[in-house]
Amino acid sequence: MNRVRVLLLNAALGPLDYRAPRDADVPPGSIVVAPLGPRQEVGVVWEPERLETEEVGDNRLRPLLHVYDVPPLAEPLRRLIDWTADYYLSPIAAVLRMALPSSSALDGARTVTEYRATGLVPDRLTPQRAQALERIESRQGLIRELALAADVSDGVIRGLVKAGAIEAVEVTIDAPFPPPDPDHAAPALEPAQQEAASEFVTAVRSGGFSPYLLDGVTGSGKTEVYFEAIAEALRQGKQTLVLLPEIALTEPFLKRFAARFGCEPVAWHSGLRQSQRRRAWRAISTGDAKVVVGARSALFLPYRSLGLIVVDEAHETSFKQEEGVQYHARDVAVMRAKLEEVPVILASATPAIETRQMAEIGVYKEVKLPARFGGADMPEIAAIDLIQDPPMRGRWLAPTLVREIEANLEAGEQTLLFLNRRGYAPLTLCRTCGHRFQCPNCTAWMVEHRLVSRLACHHCGHMMPPPRACPECKDEDSLVPCGPGVERIADEVRALFPDARTAIVTSDTIWSPAKAAEFVGRMDAGEIDIVIGTQLVTKGYHFPNLTLVGVVDADLGLSGGDLRAAERSFQQICQVSGRAGRGEKPGRVFVQTHEPAAPVISALVSGDVEGFYAAETDARREAAMPPFGRLAGIIVSSEDLAEATETARLIGRTAPKVENMAVFGPAPAPLAMLRGRHRQRLLVHAARSLDVQDVIRDWLGKLDWPRSVRVAVDVDPYSFL
Ligand code: ADP
Ligand code: ZN
Repeated sequence: MNRVRVLLLNAALGPLDYRAPRDADVPPGSIVVAPLGPRQEVGVVWEPERLETEEVGDNRLRPLLHVYDVPPLAEPLRRLIDWTADYYLSPIAAVLRMALPSSSALDGARTVTEYRATGLVPDRLTPQRAQALERIESRQGLIRELALAADVSDGVIRGLVKAGAIEAVEVTIDAPFPPPDPDHAAPALEPAQQEAASEFVTAVRSGGFSPYLLDGVTGSGKTEVYFEAIAEALRQGKQTLVLLPEIALTEPFLKRFAARFGCEPVAWHSGLRQSQRRRAWRAISTGDAKVVVGARSALFLPYRSLGLIVVDEAHETSFKQEEGVQYHARDVAVMRAKLEEVPVILASATPAIETRQMAEIGVYKEVKLPARFGGADMPEIAAIDLIQDPPMRGRWLAPTLVREIEANLEAGEQTLLFLNRRGYAPLTLCRTCGHRFQCPNCTAWMVEHRLVSRLACHHCGHMMPPPRACPECKDEDSLVPCGPGVERIADEVRALFPDARTAIVTSDTIWSPAKAAEFVGRMDAGEIDIVIGTQLVTKGYHFPNLTLVGVVDADLGLSGGDLRAAERSFQQICQVSGRAGRGEKPGRVFVQTHEPAAPVISALVSGDVEGFYAAETDARREAAMPPFGRLAGIIVSSEDLAEATETARLIGRTAPKVENMAVFGPAPAPLAMLRGRHRQRLLVHAARSLDVQDVIRDWLGKLDWPRSVRVAVDVDPYSFL
């Protein structure tokens, strides 16, 4: 009897036992199709001793329907899935899902039919059709994908196919990826870079788990250095995974990679078309995809022979997933490296306190690049005291900063103005009655986006056209924007410098790798004088002619007040400053603040990075906050306020009395309502030594709540909203 235990993708079900075909070899990790009642489910064969299930007699076992002809998920990946489910208190099926593609990729059909525009304009051009053709541009994909991209129905796309404006193309999904060449264009490294590179090359060559912190100032050549580690992995025939925080960053990265290795790496992110996804997944699972660059979702893919993991911009909080399985990709990357027994490099100019601490106690080896490449100087940072040197009424840029921008324009150099706020104004109110526009689904203001003339909620995406009249007092033209967003700063810049060429860079304008590439192209070609951007521009970019950075509101990040607020502000301003003066010309940074004496600001101005980190680290240690203690958030939500409150109270009331652990709350979450659900939070604070997951599992496992209530546990939380 060939009994196998199968972990099904459906999270609502536990694992089930099945009968494998007598003559087939179905080892753990095999991807199979199993019958489930009248339906079929994809699942993966798992070690029975690792998954408990109800014992079923041999005679009641149903046979597996199919075993896919793809390599089984390897043991290290299976253990990673076990560990992630355990550590983040998530259903194992939900974690498994991140490792598997859609079932069509498993089928291995060799071609798919995709569609693209022919350039022909149909005789009957309805507004819908015009919109579709405008947005599709050079895009290619399934009918559904094009319809989504163009925001029209599938029918509109089909109509365009009939009219000859869109045509079908056959795409091969098993086309091999070209192999990157480790010796294509190796740079001559500077001595400090060479030393760092040698360390990594040796680690890759000898294999085994070795975690590194690559700590180098912005522009020091961290990428060049870890490229040498990748080159070594290539020489060994091994795969490398490079995790990047932001999809918008991938395009310039791909180009840079191609310049070094002769061809682009395999990209993995949510923007891929289904056919690209299938092709990449299959090549990753066979080991043919040698270097994979991706967002955090690339972490759980079934690499056949991993030799190295790199997490670039490792301090970025976007590595923390806030929905579904709430894992931190940086931490899971280290765990994967450990299980795969390979080196892992966390690269950052502003490492997180958690990561620094691991280096401090010797768990991670720290490799430093203290100076910029080519002798470029670090930029000068100065504070502008907004009380002493205030902007004009209704303006946001202080006279000092305006003069600097003017001088920079005259010198023909580029300027970056940073404000981490999308849209035109964060709040709109009625001058007559004081009415404020709030999202109907969330505890949040509606943010005006003037470029698309909409008010939008940044939490749930709810949109409305900006009303002419106040809904409360019916007064017309009484609505006023309050506070600035990047669009408003751009308006101010255009009013001040009508001849300057400006660009707004936010997730609203750069929403695809292609858009990012276009922006980079225009910057490189000198077609932009002043960039106004959100955190999206603080990362990774290298523009040699960008010499002036203005931080519009340095106090903004500090207002949230969570445990990492100061650290995050510091990192963000360091990163955005790091965009200045990366080439031969020196950079200048001006930071507008109401509190020039705040520790974050004075550390930035004096350049006392170590002092700042030391003070922050001490404060964390004293309060037993991470990394010196542990936190877990428990978020209870329901569409029904009473239900959410009662469940949260039940959880609070039944909190176990455990030594070295305290439970705070429940209390309404700062985001008391999100997407129409009322939210309550509890916070568990425990000593490092305590297995807090075990305690929570036990505690919540005994409780019952209505089906309409959701209880999410956020282990090592980054958001406290
Ligand atoms: P970081 O990742 O530390 O910010 P980068 O790797 O992006 O730094 O390097 C900054 C710039 O300097 C890039 O344009 C890079 O190509 C260049 N650079 C760094 N080291 C070298 C080198 N040894 N030879 C040539 N160019 C280099
Ligand atoms: Zn909302």
